[in-house]
Amino acid sequence: MTSRSARTVWVLGDQLHRDLNHLRGADPADTEVLFVVSRSKLRSAPWHRQRLHLILSAMRRFANELEAEGFAVDWRVTETMSEGVRAHFDERRPDQLRVMEPMNRAGAALLDRLSAELPLDVVPGDQFLCSRHEFADWADGHVRRDGSLLMEDFYRWQRRRLNVLIDGDGEPVGGRWNFDDENRLPPPKHEVQWPDVAFEIPDEVDEWVDELLSSVEGLRCVGAPSKGLWAADRAGVLKRLDHFIDTSLAGFGPYEDAIIAEERFLNHSILSPYLNLGLIHPKEVVARVLERAGDVPLNSLEGFIRQIIGWREFVYGLYWWFGEDYLDSNVFDDDAPVPPSFLGEPTDMNCVAHVARWVDEDGWTHHIPRLMVLANLATLAGVRPHSMLRWMWASFVDGAEWVMAPNILGMGMYADGGRMSTKPYVSGGNYLSKMTNFCGSCVFDKKERVGEHACPFTTLYWDFLDRNRESLRPNHRMARMYANLDRLADLDEVRARAVEVRQRLRAGTL
Ligand SMILES: Cc1cc2nc3c(=O)[nH]c(=O)nc-3n(C[C@H](O)[C@H](O)[C@H](O)COP(=O)(O)OP(=O)(O)OC[C@H]3O[C@@H](n4cnc5c(N)ncnc54)[C@H](O)[C@@H]3O)c2cc1C
Repeated sequence: MTSRSARTVWVLGDQLHRDLNHLRGADPADTEVLFVVSRSKLRSAPWHRQRLHLILSAMRRFANELEAEGFAVDWRVTETMSEGVRAHFDERRPDQLRVMEPMNRAGAALLDRLSAELPLDVVPGDQFLCSRHEFADWADGHVRRDGSLLMEDFYRWQRRRLNVLIDGDGEPVGGRWNFDDENRLPPPKHEVQWPDVAFEIPDEVDEWVDELLSSVEGLRCVGAPSKGLWAADRAGVLKRLDHFIDTSLAGFGPYEDAIIAEERFLNHSILSPYLNLGLIHPKEVVARVLERAGDVPLNSLEGFIRQIIGWREFVYGLYWWFGEDYLDSNVFDDDAPVPPSFLGEPTDMNCVAHVARWVDEDGWTHHIPRLMVLANLATLAGVRPHSMLRWMWASFVDGAEWVMAPNILGMGMYADGGRMSTKPYVSGGNYLSKMTNFCGSCVFDKKERVGEHACPFTTLYWDFLDRNRESLRPNHRMARMYANLDRLADLDEVRARAVEVRQRLRAGTL
Protein backbone atom coordinates (compact mmCIF):
# COMPACT_ATOMS: atom_id res chain seq x y z
CA MET A 1 0.00 0.00 0.00
CA THR A 2 1.67 3.21 -1.07
CA SER A 3 -1.13 5.74 -1.53
CA ARG A 4 -2.24 7.63 1.52
CA SER A 5 -5.76 7.24 2.96
CA ALA A 6 -7.50 10.17 4.61
CA ARG A 7 -8.56 8.05 7.51
CA THR A 8 -7.37 4.98 9.36
CA VAL A 9 -9.69 2.83 11.43
CA TRP A 10 -7.73 0.89 14.03
CA VAL A 11 -9.66 -2.28 14.86
CA LEU A 12 -8.99 -3.87 18.24
CA GLY A 13 -9.02 -7.65 18.50
CA ASP A 14 -12.45 -7.79 20.16
CA GLN A 15 -14.18 -5.38 17.75
CA LEU A 16 -14.42 -7.67 14.74
CA HIS A 17 -17.69 -6.52 13.23
CA ARG A 18 -18.31 -4.47 10.11
CA ASP A 19 -21.40 -2.80 11.50
CA LEU A 20 -20.01 -1.33 14.70
CA ASN A 21 -19.40 2.34 15.32
CA HIS A 22 -15.76 2.33 14.17
CA LEU A 23 -16.45 0.83 10.72
CA ARG A 24 -20.11 1.56 10.07
CA GLY A 25 -20.36 3.54 6.87
CA ALA A 26 -16.60 3.40 6.25
CA ASP A 27 -15.68 3.65 2.58
CA PRO A 28 -12.77 1.61 1.18
CA ALA A 29 -12.02 4.55 -1.13
CA ASP A 30 -10.74 6.76 1.69
CA THR A 31 -10.20 4.42 4.64
CA GLU A 32 -7.37 2.10 5.56
CA VAL A 33 -7.84 -0.44 8.34
CA LEU A 34 -5.14 -1.11 10.92
CA PHE A 35 -4.71 -4.32 12.95
CA VAL A 36 -1.91 -4.56 15.50
CA VAL A 37 -0.74 -7.79 17.13
CA SER A 38 1.44 -7.18 20.16
CA ARG A 39 4.11 -9.77 20.88
CA SER A 40 4.46 -8.65 24.50
CA LYS A 41 0.74 -9.22 25.02
CA LEU A 42 1.08 -12.70 23.56
CA ARG A 43 3.88 -13.38 26.02
CA SER A 44 2.17 -11.79 29.01
CA ALA A 45 0.52 -14.95 30.39
CA PRO A 46 0.42 -18.70 29.91
CA TRP A 47 -2.53 -18.41 27.52
CA HIS A 48 -4.59 -21.36 26.42
CA ARG A 49 -3.34 -22.05 22.87
CA GLN A 50 -6.92 -22.24 21.53
CA ARG A 51 -7.63 -18.80 22.93
CA LEU A 52 -4.67 -17.21 21.14
CA HIS A 53 -5.43 -19.17 18.02
CA LEU A 54 -9.07 -18.10 17.97
CA ILE A 55 -8.32 -14.41 18.50
CA LEU A 56 -5.60 -14.24 15.85
CA SER A 57 -7.53 -16.35 13.39
CA ALA A 58 -10.66 -14.21 13.85
CA MET A 59 -8.64 -11.00 13.41
CA ARG A 60 -6.91 -12.31 10.28
CA ARG A 61 -10.17 -13.57 8.75
CA PHE A 62 -11.88 -10.25 9.45
CA ALA A 63 -8.93 -8.43 7.86
CA ASN A 64 -9.27 -10.69 4.82
CA GLU A 65 -12.99 -9.92 4.56
CA LEU A 66 -12.28 -6.19 4.66
CA GLU A 67 -9.60 -6.59 1.99
CA ALA A 68 -12.06 -8.50 -0.17
CA GLU A 69 -14.41 -5.55 0.20
CA GLY A 70 -11.72 -3.23 -1.15
CA PHE A 71 -10.18 -1.84 2.04
CA ALA A 72 -6.43 -1.47 2.30
CA VAL A 73 -5.38 -3.33 5.45
CA ASP A 74 -2.22 -2.60 7.41
CA TRP A 75 -1.51 -5.71 9.50
CA ARG A 76 1.33 -5.19 11.96
CA VAL A 77 3.04 -7.51 14.40
CA THR A 78 5.09 -5.38 16.79
CA GLU A 79 6.49 -5.62 20.29
CA THR A 80 3.82 -3.41 21.87
CA MET A 81 0.50 -2.09 20.69
CA SER A 82 1.59 1.57 20.93
CA GLU A 83 4.66 0.81 18.83
CA GLY A 84 2.47 -0.60 16.03
CA VAL A 85 0.06 2.33 16.06
CA ARG A 86 2.86 4.91 16.15
CA ALA A 87 4.69 3.19 13.28
CA HIS A 88 1.50 3.15 11.22
CA PHE A 89 0.93 6.83 11.87
CA ASP A 90 4.51 7.81 11.06
CA GLU A 91 4.39 5.97 7.75
CA ARG A 92 0.87 6.74 6.55
CA ARG A 93 0.10 10.10 8.22
CA PRO A 94 -3.70 9.75 8.03
CA ASP A 95 -5.69 12.90 8.86
CA GLN A 96 -7.69 10.93 11.31
CA LEU A 97 -7.01 7.78 13.33
CA ARG A 98 -10.35 6.39 14.41
CA VAL A 99 -10.73 3.77 17.12
CA MET A 100 -13.71 2.60 19.11
CA GLU A 101 -13.88 2.76 22.93
CA PRO A 102 -12.40 -0.49 24.26
CA MET A 103 -14.41 -2.76 26.53
CA ASN A 104 -11.62 -3.03 29.12
CA ARG A 105 -9.80 -0.53 31.30
CA ALA A 106 -6.33 -1.44 30.05
CA GLY A 107 -7.42 -0.61 26.49
CA ALA A 108 -8.98 2.67 27.62
CA ALA A 109 -5.76 3.63 29.43
CA LEU A 110 -3.72 2.85 26.30
CA LEU A 111 -5.92 5.13 24.22
CA ASP A 112 -5.58 7.89 26.82
CA ARG A 113 -1.80 7.67 26.59
CA LEU A 114 -1.78 7.59 22.79
CA SER A 115 -4.23 10.49 22.56
CA ALA A 116 -1.56 12.74 23.99
CA GLU A 117 0.61 12.26 20.89
CA LEU A 118 -1.67 11.10 18.04
CA PRO A 119 -4.87 12.56 16.53
CA LEU A 120 -7.07 9.75 17.84
CA ASP A 121 -10.78 10.01 17.20
CA VAL A 122 -12.24 7.74 19.88
CA VAL A 123 -15.84 6.90 19.00
CA PRO A 124 -18.33 5.50 21.54
CA GLY A 125 -18.57 1.71 21.74
CA ASP A 126 -21.81 0.09 20.64
CA GLN A 127 -21.01 -3.56 21.25
CA PHE A 128 -23.69 -3.89 23.93
CA LEU A 129 -27.39 -3.18 23.97
CA CYS A 130 -26.83 -1.00 27.03
CA SER A 131 -23.70 1.14 26.92
CA ARG A 132 -21.70 1.60 30.09
CA HIS A 133 -22.88 5.21 30.24
CA GLU A 134 -26.55 4.17 29.99
CA PHE A 135 -25.91 1.54 32.63
CA ALA A 136 -24.41 4.13 34.98
CA ASP A 137 -27.54 6.30 34.57
CA TRP A 138 -29.75 3.31 35.28
CA ALA A 139 -27.63 2.25 38.25
CA ASP A 140 -27.77 5.69 39.87
CA GLY A 141 -31.51 5.32 40.29
CA HIS A 142 -31.52 1.67 41.34
CA VAL A 143 -28.98 1.27 44.13
CA ARG A 144 -30.57 -0.56 47.04
CA ARG A 145 -30.21 0.40 50.65
CA ASP A 146 -27.30 -2.01 51.13
CA GLY A 147 -25.45 -0.44 48.17
CA SER A 148 -26.09 -3.33 45.76
CA LEU A 149 -27.78 -3.51 42.35
CA LEU A 150 -30.05 -6.37 41.40
CA MET A 151 -29.70 -8.14 38.07
CA GLU A 152 -33.43 -8.83 38.10
CA ASP A 153 -34.22 -5.08 38.23
CA PHE A 154 -31.82 -4.41 35.37
CA TYR A 155 -33.15 -7.31 33.33
CA ARG A 156 -36.76 -6.14 33.59
CA TRP A 157 -35.70 -2.64 32.63
CA GLN A 158 -33.86 -4.05 29.59
CA ARG A 159 -36.81 -6.24 28.59
CA ARG A 160 -39.17 -3.27 28.69
CA ARG A 161 -36.97 -0.73 26.97
CA LEU A 162 -35.86 -3.19 24.27
CA ASN A 163 -39.39 -4.57 23.98
CA VAL A 164 -38.25 -8.17 24.24
CA LEU A 165 -40.93 -10.70 25.24
CA ILE A 166 -43.25 -7.91 26.39
CA ASP A 167 -46.98 -8.06 25.66
CA GLY A 168 -49.25 -5.23 24.52
CA ASP A 169 -49.84 -4.09 28.13
CA GLY A 170 -46.14 -3.75 28.84
CA GLU A 171 -46.13 -6.95 30.90
CA PRO A 172 -43.90 -10.01 30.43
CA VAL A 173 -45.14 -12.50 27.86
CA GLY A 174 -46.56 -15.51 29.73
CA GLY A 175 -47.30 -13.39 32.81
CA ARG A 176 -43.96 -14.09 34.56
CA TRP A 177 -40.49 -12.60 34.38
CA ASN A 178 -38.76 -15.68 35.62
CA PHE A 179 -38.98 -19.43 35.02
CA ASP A 180 -36.15 -20.45 37.33
CA ASP A 181 -38.36 -23.02 39.05
CA GLU A 182 -38.60 -24.92 35.73
CA ASN A 183 -34.96 -24.33 34.84
CA ARG A 184 -33.03 -25.75 37.76
CA LEU A 185 -33.47 -29.45 37.19
CA PRO A 186 -30.78 -31.88 38.29
CA PRO A 187 -29.27 -34.22 35.68
CA PRO A 188 -32.07 -36.32 34.19
CA LYS A 189 -32.35 -39.93 35.33
CA HIS A 190 -33.73 -40.97 31.94
CA GLU A 191 -31.76 -41.19 28.69
CA VAL A 192 -31.59 -37.84 26.86
CA GLN A 193 -30.36 -37.28 23.33
CA TRP A 194 -28.12 -34.20 23.66
CA PRO A 195 -27.45 -32.09 20.56
CA ASP A 196 -24.29 -32.64 18.56
CA VAL A 197 -21.60 -29.97 18.35
CA ALA A 198 -20.28 -28.52 15.09
CA PHE A 199 -16.56 -28.59 14.23
CA GLU A 200 -14.43 -26.66 11.74
CA ILE A 201 -11.84 -28.14 9.39
CA PRO A 202 -8.49 -26.34 9.65
CA ASP A 203 -7.48 -24.29 6.59
CA GLU A 204 -4.60 -22.11 5.41
CA VAL A 205 -5.48 -19.30 7.84
CA ASP A 206 -5.11 -21.75 10.71
CA GLU A 207 -1.70 -22.76 9.38
CA TRP A 208 -0.75 -19.11 9.07
CA VAL A 209 -1.77 -18.50 12.71
CA ASP A 210 0.26 -21.50 13.87
CA GLU A 211 3.30 -20.10 12.08
CA LEU A 212 2.77 -16.66 13.56
CA LEU A 213 2.52 -18.10 17.05
CA SER A 214 5.59 -20.25 16.64
CA SER A 215 7.56 -17.19 15.51
CA VAL A 216 7.00 -15.43 18.85
CA GLU A 217 9.96 -16.08 21.11
CA GLY A 218 9.17 -16.71 24.76
CA LEU A 219 5.54 -17.63 24.15
CA ARG A 220 4.14 -19.92 26.86
CA CYS A 221 0.98 -21.74 25.90
CA VAL A 222 -1.09 -24.23 27.85
CA GLY A 223 -4.00 -26.45 26.88
CA ALA A 224 -4.66 -28.89 24.09
CA PRO A 225 -4.38 -27.81 20.46
CA SER A 226 -7.56 -26.98 18.61
CA LYS A 227 -9.85 -29.76 17.42
CA GLY A 228 -11.88 -27.25 15.41
CA LEU A 229 -14.42 -26.46 18.10
CA TRP A 230 -14.17 -22.73 17.46
CA ALA A 231 -15.49 -20.97 14.38
CA ALA A 232 -13.44 -17.87 13.61
CA ASP A 233 -15.33 -15.90 11.02
CA ARG A 234 -18.74 -14.38 10.76
CA ALA A 235 -20.19 -16.96 8.37
CA GLY A 236 -19.06 -19.76 10.69
CA VAL A 237 -20.47 -17.98 13.73
CA LEU A 238 -23.85 -17.37 12.09
CA LYS A 239 -23.98 -21.09 11.30
CA ARG A 240 -23.22 -21.89 14.95
CA LEU A 241 -26.02 -19.58 16.06
CA ASP A 242 -28.48 -21.28 13.72
CA HIS A 243 -27.26 -24.67 14.85
CA PHE A 244 -27.90 -23.71 18.47
CA ILE A 245 -31.36 -22.41 17.65
CA ASP A 246 -32.23 -25.53 15.65
CA THR A 247 -30.86 -28.10 18.06
CA SER A 248 -30.59 -26.69 21.58
CA LEU A 249 -32.71 -23.62 22.23
CA ALA A 250 -35.92 -25.53 22.94
CA GLY A 251 -34.16 -27.58 25.60
CA PHE A 252 -31.98 -24.76 26.94
CA GLY A 253 -33.92 -24.05 30.13
CA PRO A 254 -34.52 -27.22 32.13
CA TYR A 255 -30.93 -28.46 32.54
CA GLU A 256 -29.04 -25.18 32.32
CA ASP A 257 -27.82 -25.55 35.94
CA ALA A 258 -26.90 -29.24 35.71
CA ILE A 259 -23.49 -30.79 35.06
CA ILE A 260 -23.19 -34.19 33.43
CA ALA A 261 -19.82 -35.90 33.38
CA GLU A 262 -20.29 -37.54 29.97
CA GLU A 263 -21.77 -34.49 28.22
CA ARG A 264 -19.92 -31.23 28.61
CA PHE A 265 -22.02 -28.98 26.34
CA LEU A 266 -25.64 -29.98 27.12
CA ASN A 267 -27.96 -27.38 25.57
CA HIS A 268 -25.64 -24.42 26.06
CA SER A 269 -25.09 -22.15 23.08
CA ILE A 270 -21.23 -22.01 23.17
CA LEU A 271 -21.51 -18.50 21.75
CA SER A 272 -19.64 -16.50 24.39
CA PRO A 273 -16.29 -16.21 22.56
CA TYR A 274 -17.97 -14.89 19.43
CA LEU A 275 -20.03 -12.33 21.32
CA ASN A 276 -16.95 -11.24 23.24
CA LEU A 277 -14.80 -10.83 20.12
CA GLY A 278 -17.50 -8.84 18.36
CA LEU A 279 -18.00 -11.45 15.65
CA ILE A 280 -21.70 -11.30 16.39
CA HIS A 281 -23.72 -8.61 18.13
CA PRO A 282 -26.11 -9.47 20.97
CA LYS A 283 -28.94 -7.76 19.09
CA GLU A 284 -28.42 -10.22 16.21
CA VAL A 285 -28.57 -13.15 18.61
CA VAL A 286 -31.75 -11.82 20.22
CA ALA A 287 -33.40 -11.11 16.86
CA ARG A 288 -32.62 -14.58 15.46
CA VAL A 289 -33.83 -16.29 18.62
CA LEU A 290 -37.07 -14.29 18.75
CA GLU A 291 -37.86 -15.31 15.17
CA ARG A 292 -38.41 -18.77 16.62
CA ALA A 293 -40.35 -17.61 19.66
CA GLY A 294 -43.49 -19.51 18.67
CA ASP A 295 -41.71 -22.88 18.39
CA VAL A 296 -39.80 -22.84 21.66
CA PRO A 297 -41.05 -23.38 25.24
CA LEU A 298 -41.16 -20.07 27.07
CA ASN A 299 -39.00 -21.25 29.98
CA SER A 300 -36.15 -22.00 27.54
CA LEU A 301 -36.66 -18.90 25.45
CA GLU A 302 -36.81 -16.60 28.46
CA GLY A 303 -33.91 -18.43 30.14
CA PHE A 304 -31.69 -17.78 27.15
CA ILE A 305 -32.80 -14.17 26.60
CA ARG A 306 -32.07 -13.53 30.29
CA GLN A 307 -28.44 -14.60 29.73
CA ILE A 308 -27.96 -12.33 26.73
CA ILE A 309 -29.77 -9.13 27.62
CA GLY A 310 -29.68 -9.65 31.37
CA TRP A 311 -26.57 -11.26 32.78
CA ARG A 312 -24.11 -10.39 30.02
CA GLU A 313 -25.08 -6.73 29.88
CA PHE A 314 -25.37 -6.44 33.67
CA VAL A 315 -21.86 -7.80 34.12
CA TYR A 316 -20.44 -5.36 31.57
CA GLY A 317 -22.18 -2.41 33.19
CA LEU A 318 -21.02 -3.48 36.65
CA TYR A 319 -17.39 -3.81 35.54
CA TRP A 320 -17.31 -0.12 34.69
CA TRP A 321 -19.62 1.01 37.46
CA PHE A 322 -17.67 -0.70 40.23
CA GLY A 323 -14.49 1.21 39.43
CA GLU A 324 -10.84 0.34 39.04
CA ASP A 325 -10.25 -0.84 42.62
CA TYR A 326 -12.71 -3.66 42.13
CA LEU A 327 -9.95 -5.78 40.63
CA ASP A 328 -8.18 -5.83 44.01
CA SER A 329 -11.25 -7.12 45.86
CA ASN A 330 -10.24 -9.65 48.51
CA VAL A 331 -12.65 -9.35 51.42
CA PHE A 332 -11.50 -12.60 53.06
CA ASP A 333 -7.84 -11.66 52.68
CA ASP A 334 -7.13 -14.94 50.92
CA ASP A 335 -3.68 -15.77 49.58
CA ALA A 336 -3.58 -19.42 48.47
CA PRO A 337 -2.42 -20.13 44.91
CA VAL A 338 -4.67 -21.65 42.25
CA PRO A 339 -4.67 -25.40 43.03
CA PRO A 340 -2.45 -27.45 40.70
CA SER A 341 -5.46 -29.75 40.15
CA PHE A 342 -7.15 -26.89 38.22
CA LEU A 343 -4.09 -26.76 35.98
CA GLY A 344 -4.40 -30.42 35.10
CA GLU A 345 -2.33 -32.13 37.81
CA PRO A 346 -3.91 -35.48 38.75
CA THR A 347 -6.62 -35.32 41.39
CA ASP A 348 -8.97 -37.80 43.01
CA MET A 349 -11.77 -35.23 43.10
CA ASN A 350 -13.89 -36.50 40.24
CA CYS A 351 -15.61 -33.16 39.60
CA VAL A 352 -12.35 -31.19 39.51
CA ALA A 353 -10.66 -33.80 37.30
CA HIS A 354 -13.47 -33.56 34.73
CA VAL A 355 -13.74 -29.79 34.72
CA ALA A 356 -9.96 -29.33 34.51
CA ARG A 357 -9.92 -31.70 31.54
CA TRP A 358 -12.65 -29.70 29.81
CA VAL A 359 -10.71 -26.48 30.36
CA ASP A 360 -7.59 -28.13 28.99
CA GLU A 361 -9.32 -29.67 25.96
CA ASP A 362 -11.65 -26.82 24.99
CA GLY A 363 -10.70 -23.69 26.94
CA TRP A 364 -14.36 -23.57 27.87
CA THR A 365 -16.95 -25.05 30.21
CA HIS A 366 -20.50 -23.94 30.68
CA HIS A 367 -21.50 -21.66 33.51
CA ILE A 368 -22.05 -24.14 36.31
CA PRO A 369 -18.67 -25.93 36.25
CA ARG A 370 -17.06 -22.48 36.42
CA LEU A 371 -19.25 -21.49 39.34
CA MET A 372 -20.00 -24.65 41.30
CA VAL A 373 -16.69 -26.44 40.89
CA LEU A 374 -13.90 -23.95 40.15
CA ALA A 375 -15.00 -20.74 41.85
CA ASN A 376 -16.68 -22.61 44.70
CA LEU A 377 -13.57 -24.63 45.57
CA ALA A 378 -11.35 -21.57 45.13
CA THR A 379 -13.51 -19.64 47.60
CA LEU A 380 -13.66 -22.49 50.09
CA ALA A 381 -9.92 -23.09 49.85
CA GLY A 382 -9.00 -19.42 50.23
CA VAL A 383 -7.43 -18.90 46.80
CA ARG A 384 -6.30 -15.32 46.21
CA PRO A 385 -9.10 -13.88 44.03
CA HIS A 386 -6.75 -12.03 41.72
CA SER A 387 -4.77 -15.22 41.05
CA MET A 388 -8.00 -16.99 40.16
CA LEU A 389 -8.92 -14.13 37.86
CA ARG A 390 -5.57 -14.25 36.07
CA TRP A 391 -5.70 -18.01 35.71
CA MET A 392 -9.25 -18.11 34.32
CA TRP A 393 -8.54 -15.16 32.05
CA ALA A 394 -5.63 -16.98 30.48
CA SER A 395 -7.32 -20.37 30.36
CA PHE A 396 -10.76 -19.70 28.86
CA VAL A 397 -11.28 -18.81 25.20
CA ASP A 398 -14.02 -16.33 26.11
CA GLY A 399 -12.02 -14.55 28.82
CA ALA A 400 -11.92 -10.76 29.06
CA GLU A 401 -11.43 -8.53 32.05
CA TRP A 402 -14.88 -6.91 31.82
CA VAL A 403 -16.66 -10.26 32.01
CA MET A 404 -14.34 -12.06 34.41
CA ALA A 405 -14.03 -9.40 37.10
CA PRO A 406 -17.69 -9.39 38.21
CA ASN A 407 -18.20 -13.09 37.49
CA ILE A 408 -15.14 -14.33 39.35
CA LEU A 409 -14.58 -11.72 42.04
CA GLY A 410 -18.28 -11.02 42.62
CA MET A 411 -20.53 -13.88 41.67
CA GLY A 412 -18.02 -16.71 42.01
CA MET A 413 -15.88 -15.76 45.01
CA TYR A 414 -17.73 -13.03 46.94
CA ALA A 415 -14.36 -11.31 47.14
CA ASP A 416 -16.16 -7.96 46.82
CA GLY A 417 -17.97 -8.48 50.13
CA GLY A 418 -21.41 -8.62 48.52
CA ARG A 419 -21.42 -5.82 45.94
CA MET A 420 -22.60 -8.26 43.30
CA SER A 421 -24.23 -11.15 45.16
CA THR A 422 -26.27 -11.15 48.32
CA LYS A 423 -24.35 -14.11 49.75
CA PRO A 424 -21.34 -16.26 48.88
CA TYR A 425 -22.05 -18.98 46.34
CA VAL A 426 -20.56 -21.81 48.37
CA SER A 427 -21.67 -25.37 48.73
CA GLY A 428 -20.45 -28.67 50.04
CA GLY A 429 -20.62 -32.08 48.39
CA ASN A 430 -24.36 -32.52 48.94
CA TYR A 431 -25.39 -29.76 46.57
CA LEU A 432 -22.75 -30.81 44.04
CA SER A 433 -24.15 -34.29 44.19
CA LYS A 434 -27.67 -32.99 43.55
CA MET A 435 -26.77 -30.97 40.45
CA THR A 436 -24.08 -33.22 38.94
CA ASN A 437 -23.47 -36.94 38.44
CA PHE A 438 -19.83 -36.78 39.55
CA CYS A 439 -20.18 -37.94 43.13
CA GLY A 440 -21.38 -41.53 42.63
CA SER A 441 -18.03 -42.65 41.22
CA CYS A 442 -15.80 -40.38 43.32
CA VAL A 443 -13.45 -41.78 45.96
CA PHE A 444 -14.62 -39.08 48.34
CA ASP A 445 -17.87 -39.27 50.26
CA LYS A 446 -20.02 -36.15 49.93
CA LYS A 447 -21.62 -36.72 53.36
CA GLU A 448 -18.36 -37.07 55.28
CA ARG A 449 -16.83 -33.97 56.87
CA VAL A 450 -13.81 -35.61 58.43
CA GLY A 451 -11.50 -38.51 57.68
CA GLU A 452 -9.50 -39.58 54.66
CA HIS A 453 -12.59 -40.07 52.50
CA ALA A 454 -14.39 -36.86 53.39
CA CYS A 455 -15.35 -34.81 50.34
CA PRO A 456 -12.98 -31.81 50.28
CA PHE A 457 -15.89 -29.55 49.31
CA THR A 458 -17.87 -30.68 52.35
CA THR A 459 -15.01 -30.25 54.83
CA LEU A 460 -14.04 -26.87 53.43
CA TYR A 461 -17.64 -25.66 53.29
CA TRP A 462 -18.11 -25.99 57.05
CA ASP A 463 -14.63 -24.67 57.70
CA PHE A 464 -15.30 -21.65 55.45
CA LEU A 465 -18.45 -20.78 57.41
CA ASP A 466 -16.56 -21.21 60.65
CA ARG A 467 -13.55 -19.12 59.56
CA ASN A 468 -15.71 -16.28 58.31
CA ARG A 469 -18.31 -16.35 61.05
CA GLU A 470 -17.78 -12.77 62.09
CA SER A 471 -18.33 -11.24 58.67
CA LEU A 472 -20.97 -13.63 57.29
CA ARG A 473 -23.15 -14.52 60.26
CA PRO A 474 -24.97 -11.15 60.34
CA ASN A 475 -26.13 -11.78 56.73
CA HIS A 476 -29.72 -12.96 57.19
CA ARG A 477 -29.48 -15.02 53.99
CA MET A 478 -26.84 -17.12 55.73
CA ALA A 479 -28.94 -17.77 58.84
CA ARG A 480 -29.85 -21.33 57.97
CA MET A 481 -26.27 -22.25 57.10
CA TYR A 482 -25.09 -20.92 60.47
CA ALA A 483 -27.90 -22.66 62.33
CA ASN A 484 -26.67 -25.91 60.74
CA LEU A 485 -23.05 -25.10 61.55
CA ASP A 486 -24.01 -24.54 65.19
CA ARG A 487 -25.36 -28.08 65.33
CA LEU A 488 -22.04 -29.69 64.35
CA ALA A 489 -20.51 -31.66 67.19
CA ASP A 490 -17.20 -32.35 65.41
CA LEU A 491 -16.12 -28.83 64.48
CA ASP A 492 -12.62 -29.24 65.93
CA GLU A 493 -12.03 -32.30 63.75
CA VAL A 494 -13.47 -30.45 60.75
CA ARG A 495 -11.03 -27.59 61.34
CA ALA A 496 -8.10 -29.99 61.57
CA ARG A 497 -9.12 -31.86 58.42
CA ALA A 498 -9.62 -28.52 56.60
CA VAL A 499 -6.05 -27.48 57.37
CA GLU A 500 -4.84 -30.73 55.86
CA VAL A 501 -7.13 -30.40 52.81
CA ARG A 502 -5.95 -26.87 52.14
CA GLN A 503 -2.31 -27.93 52.42
CA ARG A 504 -2.83 -30.85 50.06
CA LEU A 505 -4.75 -28.73 47.56
CA ARG A 506 -1.89 -26.25 47.53
CA ALA A 507 0.68 -29.02 47.13
CA GLY A 508 -1.34 -30.76 44.42
CA THR A 509 -1.62 -34.03 46.33
CA LEU A 510 -5.38 -34.33 46.70
C1 LIG B 1 -16.48 -17.86 37.61
C2 LIG B 1 -17.07 -17.49 36.28
C3 LIG B 1 -16.25 -17.06 35.25
C4 LIG B 1 -16.81 -16.70 34.02
N1 LIG B 1 -15.99 -16.25 33.04
C5 LIG B 1 -16.52 -15.86 31.84
C6 LIG B 1 -15.68 -15.40 30.80
O1 LIG B 1 -14.47 -15.31 30.93
N2 LIG B 1 -16.24 -15.03 29.63
C7 LIG B 1 -17.59 -15.11 29.44
O2 LIG B 1 -18.06 -14.75 28.35
N3 LIG B 1 -18.40 -15.55 30.40
C8 LIG B 1 -17.91 -15.95 31.60
N4 LIG B 1 -18.74 -16.41 32.57
C9 LIG B 1 -20.19 -16.46 32.31
C10 LIG B 1 -20.68 -17.78 31.70
O3 LIG B 1 -20.17 -18.85 32.43
C11 LIG B 1 -20.29 -17.93 30.23
O4 LIG B 1 -20.67 -16.78 29.52
C12 LIG B 1 -20.98 -19.11 29.58
O5 LIG B 1 -20.70 -20.29 30.31
C13 LIG B 1 -20.53 -19.26 28.14
O6 LIG B 1 -21.06 -20.43 27.57
P1 LIG B 1 -22.27 -20.34 26.53
O7 LIG B 1 -21.92 -19.38 25.47
O8 LIG B 1 -22.63 -21.72 26.14
O9 LIG B 1 -23.40 -19.73 27.43
P2 LIG B 1 -24.97 -19.95 27.48
O10 LIG B 1 -25.27 -20.68 28.73
O11 LIG B 1 -25.47 -20.51 26.22
O12 LIG B 1 -25.51 -18.45 27.66
C14 LIG B 1 -25.67 -17.59 26.54
C15 LIG B 1 -24.79 -16.37 26.64
O13 LIG B 1 -25.16 -15.59 27.75
C16 LIG B 1 -24.03 -14.85 28.20
N5 LIG B 1 -23.88 -15.04 29.63
C17 LIG B 1 -24.53 -15.93 30.39
N6 LIG B 1 -24.19 -15.77 31.69
C18 LIG B 1 -23.30 -14.77 31.72
C19 LIG B 1 -22.58 -14.13 32.76
N7 LIG B 1 -22.69 -14.50 34.06
N8 LIG B 1 -21.73 -13.16 32.43
C20 LIG B 1 -21.60 -12.77 31.15
N9 LIG B 1 -22.26 -13.33 30.13
C21 LIG B 1 -23.10 -14.30 30.42
C22 LIG B 1 -22.83 -15.36 27.43
O14 LIG B 1 -22.50 -14.43 26.43
C23 LIG B 1 -23.32 -16.64 26.83
O15 LIG B 1 -22.70 -16.91 25.58
C24 LIG B 1 -18.21 -16.79 33.82
C25 LIG B 1 -19.01 -17.23 34.85
C26 LIG B 1 -18.45 -17.58 36.07
C27 LIG B 1 -19.35 -18.03 37.18
